[in-house]
Formats: sequence, C-alpha cells, structure tokens
Amino acid sequence: MKTKVAIIGAGPSGLLLGQLLHMAGIDNVIIERQSGEYVLGRIRAGVLEQGMVDLMREAGVSERMDVEGLVHDGIELVFGGRRDRIDLKALTGGSSVLVYGQTEVTRDLMAAREASGATTIYEASNVQLHDVKGEAPYVTFEKNGETYRLDCDYVAGCDGFHGVSRKTIPAEVLTHYERVYPFGWLGMLSDTPPVNHELIYAHHERGFVLCSQRSMTRSRYYLQVALSEKVEDWSDERFWQELKTRLPQDVAARVVTGPSLEKSIAPLRSYVVEPMQYGKLFLVGDAAHIVPPTGAKGLNLAASDVSTLYRILNRVYRDGRTDLLENYSQIALRRVWKAERFSWLMTNLLHEYSERDAFDKRMQRTDYDYYMTSNAVLKTIAENYVGLPYEPIE
Ligand SMILES: Cc1cc2nc3c(=O)[nH]c(=O)nc-3n(C[C@H](O)[C@H](O)[C@H](O)COP(=O)(O)OP(=O)(O)OC[C@H]3O[C@@H](n4cnc5c(N)ncnc54)[C@H](O)[C@@H]3O)c2cc1C
Repeated sequence: MKTKVAIIGAGPSGLLLGQLLHMAGIDNVIIERQSGEYVLGRIRAGVLEQGMVDLMREAGVSERMDVEGLVHDGIELVFGGRRDRIDLKALTGGSSVLVYGQTEVTRDLMAAREASGATTIYEASNVQLHDVKGEAPYVTFEKNGETYRLDCDYVAGCDGFHGVSRKTIPAEVLTHYERVYPFGWLGMLSDTPPVNHELIYAHHERGFVLCSQRSMTRSRYYLQVALSEKVEDWSDERFWQELKTRLPQDVAARVVTGPSLEKSIAPLRSYVVEPMQYGKLFLVGDAAHIVPPTGAKGLNLAASDVSTLYRILNRVYRDGRTDLLENYSQIALRRVWKAERFSWLMTNLLHEYSERDAFDKRMQRTDYDYYMTSNAVLKTIAENYVGLPYEPIE
C-alpha cells in the first residue's frame, strides 16, 4: 500500500486531519488499533472553541453540529459560597463556545470518512513506524494475522497519550514536562436535563465539582476524588448525594437525578513533549500533550495542532513549500503551552488540595476574590476559555 500521509489513530485528531487532507485532495490512510465502536464508546470532552467549530465547518462536517450544538455565552464559577458568572461574550467582544460532545464530533467525522471512500483500517495491531527520519518512511501493522506495509511521505502521530508514535522518537531527542495532580475526576453521564443552562465550575472544601452537559437532555457531572477511589464504590445514589452536598443549596435543589449511562475516573495530568516533530513524523493532539480538563482544552488543542499541520501539508503539496514543515513544532507548542498554563491555573484555583496549609488556602481564596473583581483578569480568563487565536503558518 502507498499513500501520501499515514495517520496513526482514529480519534478526533486523526479523523479531522484525514478529512481536511481528503478535502484538499491529499491522499491519506488512517490506521487505528481499536474498532470504530470502541472509539465511539469513549465519553470525553464536550466544549468546542470557535477555532475548532470553524475547522469542523472547513472540513465539511458541521451540518449536525450547527443544528444540535448549544452556544454558551458564559460559565459560572463558585468558591466559598460566592458565585460569579463569567460573561464570555461581553468580555471577549463577541466570542462564545459550543457544547457538542466529542462522541458526536467523532461520529460525524467517521460518517464523512466512510462517505468519502477514504481508507481507515480499524483493529490494526502491532503498528510500527519505520525510517521516519529518512527519505522513505513506512508503517507496518498486523490485521487478521497478516502483516501489511504502508509506504508514505509523512506520518501524523494522532494516537493519543499511550500511542506508538511518540515512543518511536529516540529518547535523547525528547524533553518531557509533566505535572501529575494528587486527585482525579469521577465523571457521570446521565439522561437528565442539565442543572443549569451554562456550565458550573465549583470549588468546595470536599472537592471540586463540574456541572457540564452534552445536550438539553443529557448531563455530564464530575466530582474531584482521591486517586485511591474506585468507580465501583460509587453507586449512582452516592454520586448524586455527594454532588448535591458540594453545590450551592439552590443549585443542588434543582439537580434532576436519574440512572447513570457511564461512570469513570480519570487522573489529572499536565504533560508536554518537545519537539512535536522528528523527521517526517509529526505528533498531534494527546500524543504530544495532556491537560487537566478544568479549562476544557484537550480536544481543542488537538484541533489547533490539526489546523497547523493541515495548512503546512497543504502548502507542501500545493506549492512545494517543504521549508514550512520545520515550523510545525514551534507554532503548535506556543499555543499548547498557553493552554497548559490556563488549564493548570484553573485546576489550582478551583480544586481542594488537602496538603495545602492554612496560609496557602487563604491565598487560593484571595486569588479567587481578586480574579472575580478585576476586569483585567476576567478578560484574561474569558479569552483563554473561548480559545486563543490560531497562529498563521508563516
Ligand atoms: C477519560 C478522559 C476524559 C476527558 N475529558 C475531557 C474533557 O472533559 N474535556 C476536554 O477538553 N478534554 C477531555 N479529555 C481530553 C480529550 O478527550 C483529548 O484531548 C482528545 O481525545 C484528544 O484527541 P486525540 O485524537 O489526539 O487522541 P485520542 O482521542 O486519544 O485518540 C487517539 C487514537 O489513537 C488510537 N491508538 C492508540 N495507540 C495506537 C496505536 N499504537 N496504533 C494505532 N492507533 C492507536 C486510540 O485507540 C485512539 O482512537 C479527556 C480525555 C480522557 C482520556
């Protein structure tokens, strides 16, 4: 087999890049370790920045998103009984975010790929990248007991944090930056109406809470939990009770409970690898960086990486501008680090750190009070939440 761009991983990064390249007439093949159903079964992000919304439109996959996505002009923050609405639209001069689940983004991209006839190989095992530093890279993988070889010009490593792409790069080339937080998020999905029309991010001395949503009838709630917690110890009843305990009374009174569709615990981590490029291999999305979800940035960062790589590859094939390939890592990393900073800041501001002493806790509280009364800081939070602009490629 031969293609121009071999894409490893059919998560949102791989599918979106594949779709954009396909629209530009650049042949690509996606190789995914899991089945399509498995990929769709993962419940993850739900807040899209304007940049990602625009990219979905450019990729021709926005029809359902534009009808079903919910425009949110603000978010609510809660700390120590104090409640503040961040008016995203007013503070940014007109920007907002769109609530549309990662599962739906993935479903739309999968449908578009199937309709386009472009090749996606699901359930490929033992995927290996070869000669990515040389002139003729190729990928090998196994499927149904056979070994296959895919020759290509470039490889896009869109295979998430645990993928093979980053591991292919020699260790001495890479620098890793990491912060592991001393807690995780217990998430619950339920077919119940959201408690609020906007997202609520709440600090409580028992731990952080996020009231999120996927639609007017489907809610997603998260509780900060210790890393030692096990999901099987959290009955639906216990989850709802704890959620209500941590929310302001009037909000708690509005919570509509119901059976969970899914519950899972995710650890919180900040991680960046530099550089995001090695020869003809380009790391995209979670393969190169992870953010704690407090800033709603993971999926959106994947989209901005995709945008940068797509625009560069487009110029390479259209105008022979191979010099632009060297810009990818630097352009992507500048935006990645700003999103890392925002996600880290929001995590530190809103979570309960049991190891913090009384002084540090007063500082955390004072940070919150100051931020909410400073128009300059509110503007900063708003412009980061709706998403910083994408950088041009030259
Ligand atoms: C549990 C969880 C909850 C999250 N919640 C939020 C949230 O609330 N808000 C938010 O903004 N972000 C959230 N995120 C982050 C967000 O979902 C990710 O940033 C996003 O999925 C990144 O997309 P990706 O395509 O880069 O990686 P992924 O979605 O991880 O996709 C990578 C794909 O590569 C495949 N793959 C892996 N290894 C191989 C291999 N060796 N060969 C071939 N294929 C391979 C995987 O099966 C997968 O399909 C969450 C992430 C997790 C894990």
